[in-house]
Amino acid sequence: MLPADAPLRLTLSAAQIEAIFGAMRTFRDDDRTRPSAALTILCLRCGRDRPAAGSLAYGEVRLCNGCATDYELLRMAGLERDLLHQAP
Ligand SMILES: [Zn+2]
Repeated sequence: MLPADAPLRLTLSAAQIEAIFGAMRTFRDDDRTRPSAALTILCLRCGRDRPAAGSLAYGEVRLCNGCATDYELLRMAGLERDLLHQAP
C-alpha cells in the first residue's frame, strides 16, 4: 500500500516500452536513408552534438534519438512534463 501522498505514477507495461523503443528505432532508421543523415543537431537535453537521424522536434525543442526515447518513456510514465502541452 502506497502512502497517501505518494505521487501518482502510471506504470508502463513491457509491451508499451517495447513499442516506444520500436518507434524510435524506426524514426532513426528512416532518417538514415535520407540525404540529411550526416547532419548533426545540438540536443537541448543532453547538450551534445548528436546525429540528426532519429532526432525529434518537440515544438521549439529538438532532442536526439536517445533523449527523445528517454523523454517518451518518462512522459508515458507520468514522470516528465509534456514539452508540447506545457502549462502557461
Ligand atoms: Zn540528447
